[in-house]
Amino acid sequence: MKASPQPITLLVTGGTLDKDYQATSGELIFSETHLPKLLEEANSTLPIKLNVLMLKDSLEMLDSDRQKILDACLESATDRVVITHGTDTMTDTALFLKNSRQLTDKTVVLTGAMRPFQLNQSDASFNLGTALMAAQLASSGIYIAMNGELFEASQVSKNRQQGIFELHT
Ligand code: ASP
Repeated sequence: MKASPQPITLLVTGGTLDKDYQATSGELIFSETHLPKLLEEANSTLPIKLNVLMLKDSLEMLDSDRQKILDACLESATDRVVITHGTDTMTDTALFLKNSRQLTDKTVVLTGAMRPFQLNQSDASFNLGTALMAAQLASSGIYIAMNGELFEASQVSKNRQQGIFELHT
């Protein structure tokens, strides 16, 4: 018999995944999180506890923001946590969480997107889907799920030329 899926905390922090195109200015801005819509479009029935911590471009994140993310992971009632995050400093936050050495009992998976969910041809749904699956299957640790791959926090970097995440060389 199929076991019920374990509850997952979904922490929203922003990043391009959650940005909107503002027609008047031609800029990408934050209005609200689109995660509920994304999950609904994917017909997800997972027991997800959504917690919108902030809507920030990760280039503007401070260590106080990272501390807030760490605190939310520690305070979450679930052992499985997925964090949506901007791709530019996702590896910094992953290392911050890992180096705190306070999350040893949880499976924490960060993910994001190179193109907003609200625009066509976004990688948002694909990446969130893999992150949610990884959070259910991976043992405790801090990970990044991007481009269909699961990376351990200290072994991954963003290749800015190709716009992908890859293992350190
Ligand atoms: N500058 C954005 C961020 O890191 C880029 C992205 O999310 O892809 O928030």
